[in-house]
Amino acid sequence: MVRLTLIAALMTLASTTASAADLAIVHARIYASPGAPPIADGSVIVRDGRITAVGSAAKVRPGHDAQVIDGRGLVVTAGFWNSHVHLMGPAFSASKGVDPAIASRQLETMFTRWGFTTIFDIASLPGDAMALRRRVAAGEIRGPNILTTDAPFYPNNGMPGYAKEILAGAPSFEVGSPEQAAARARRQLAAGADGVKIFAGSAVGGTVGVLPMPLDAAKAVVDEAHRVGKPAFAHPSNLEGINVAIASGADVLAHTTPDGGAWPADTAARLKARHMALIPTLTLWQVELKKGDASPAEIDRFMRVAQTQLKTYSDAGGQILFGTDIGYTDAADTTDEYRLMAAAGLSWGQILASLTTAPAGRFGFPSKGRIATGLDGDLTVLSADPAADVGAFAQVAYTLRGGQIIYRSKP
Ligand SMILES: [Zn+2]
Repeated sequence: MVRLTLIAALMTLASTTASAADLAIVHARIYASPGAPPIADGSVIVRDGRITAVGSAAKVRPGHDAQVIDGRGLVVTAGFWNSHVHLMGPAFSASKGVDPAIASRQLETMFTRWGFTTIFDIASLPGDAMALRRRVAAGEIRGPNILTTDAPFYPNNGMPGYAKEILAGAPSFEVGSPEQAAARARRQLAAGADGVKIFAGSAVGGTVGVLPMPLDAAKAVVDEAHRVGKPAFAHPSNLEGINVAIASGADVLAHTTPDGGAWPADTAARLKARHMALIPTLTLWQVELKKGDASPAEIDRFMRVAQTQLKTYSDAGGQILFGTDIGYTDAADTTDEYRLMAAAGLSWGQILASLTTAPAGRFGFPSKGRIATGLDGDLTVLSADPAADVGAFAQVAYTLRGGQIIYRSKP
């Protein structure tokens, strides 16, 4: 009897601890979604991972035992998505053994410190991202929600020149025959991949330049993803790669294509007709160009080609997803990407959509992307207002995933 009482008491304690985990951010400026008017003096409450209330601070009040964040001077948005990242390198290598402390620190440096609550890894070594995701979900490693395409698909003899060093010793990611490509795609998706990534145009370099993927192989991979309702990303490199991406039925262009020059007038309309999304990765081009001997004027001209592609597609009503290619580049700071997107002509609200509602909608997560009662407690808390200056999107005070603080800036 005594023992039973003790167990009952312990169980009560456990359940109280779980449900008492209310977290409230009070008196903040809240942008619940890109189109909604701001709540100038607002509060949001999260319990058991979900948003239970959001509204004016006068009406939404936390309970006595809630953990309260004073939001005065802070801005709250739905948690950010980075839709183009790579979980590569020793910190995430399952075969070398992942140290939870090192992996947590690396995930903070790359993602949560910049407000990302969900990331889409679009090519990494087989199994690594899924192993990491399991350990983040188990609470062993601190990090964002992780989606992954697992290993990429290259054309035959089409490993990108820049990948040779990164992938030394890795298995071949070439497509083989369309049947072989489909079989590997099925295997990866069955193992838990959230999509596929094809190199529709692969920058192999040398005398070949950009090698397009044969359409039958590209289509074989994309079809397998669509069969299970998952998205297909395509790395285009140039117009020929874009054409393979469109014809294969791919859903997301992983980059703009400044290397291939300005787009012909009908490109945006053709992408829009297929409901494709575009990830600009503008900072990537700048980082790459600065490694070479291009003059500032040449870099500027090149950047304007990419920015025009972004603006043209956005103006055509095409969907834009924020993404930086972090993990391939080590440029973790997102300030430049926001500034380059704004300089291309996107409004702060359009940039917010690319970080929140657009990816949540595109990838099928109706419980994410907005701040509303019943949705996931994934929140990004900024220390300045991006409506006044888009650089504020990179000034992150707190990052919350499922109501848990996974990053807080040092005071
Ligand atoms: Zn990439």
